[in-house]
Amino acid sequence: MLKIENLQASIDNKSILKGLNLEVKAGEVHAIMGPNGAGKSTLANIIAGKEDYEVTAGTIELNGEDISELAPEERAHNGVFLSFQYPVEIPGVSVTNFIKTAINETRKAKGLEDMPAKDMLKMIREKSELLEIDRKFLSRSLNEGFSGGEKKRNEIFQMAMLEPKLAILDETDSGLDIDALRIVANGVNKLKSKDNAVIVITHYQRLLDYIVPDFVHVLHDGKIVKSGDASLALELEEKGYDWIKQELV
Ligand code: ADP
Ligand code: MG
Ligand code: MG
Repeated sequence: MLKIENLQASIDNKSILKGLNLEVKAGEVHAIMGPNGAGKSTLANIIAGKEDYEVTAGTIELNGEDISELAPEERAHNGVFLSFQYPVEIPGVSVTNFIKTAINETRKAKGLEDMPAKDMLKMIREKSELLEIDRKFLSRSLNEGFSGGEKKRNEIFQMAMLEPKLAILDETDSGLDIDALRIVANGVNKLKSKDNAVIVITHYQRLLDYIVPDFVHVLHDGKIVKSGDASLALELEEKGYDWIKQELV
């Protein structure tokens, strides 16, 4: 699904990713953890194609295809989803109308007609029921006055509707309360399948009490320095990151 080799990237001539390797297969959930400033969000943004970064070496392949030259929209159309791509408030545009537009834009880019309204409604009903999202929420204005939990609910709903091949959830928010964590975890657990993959970026172990990842990676100073199974997250919770830094010396 995703294969990253020797990824090096900088911003304003400051080197941030320093030779990062990561392989994610369909059906897998990977957690990327690591101290603040390690480069986790940078990695997420670069996979999604955000243009503030300069990629100086390495390759990013999605399903065998090099995507590193593609624009963010093209990557999205190829099935890459990054949470918080649309954090803006759009008064007057409902959660539902926003996602309808996003879906039809994606179809248009693939040369397809708009999704028939009936199918769209059916999909909205199914996904919202799956995620236990109520009708009232769907008609709210996008992000207007949303609580942290509601923002997460909207993100997970977007993810459910767009059915990405690779979903990247960057839990940058320090203010993630337990409700928001549960919404994210519940969404990931319900939406994961043998055909898609999820990368959850977090620096809190507690999210991983709810999502059990197949692999946990530690990102430190621009590289993945340790990988393991879910038990690695517990070890990090207990011991912090310093022991890993010491192992590296
Ligand atoms: P993490 O998500 O692991 O906390 P980031 O990817 O946000 O780390 O940041 C990695 C490093 O890159 C940090 O030193 C941060 O200060 C720097 N950085 C990230 N974004 C920018 C930016 N837009 N301009 C300058 N420096 C940045
Ligand atoms: Mg940070
Ligand atoms: Mg971050």
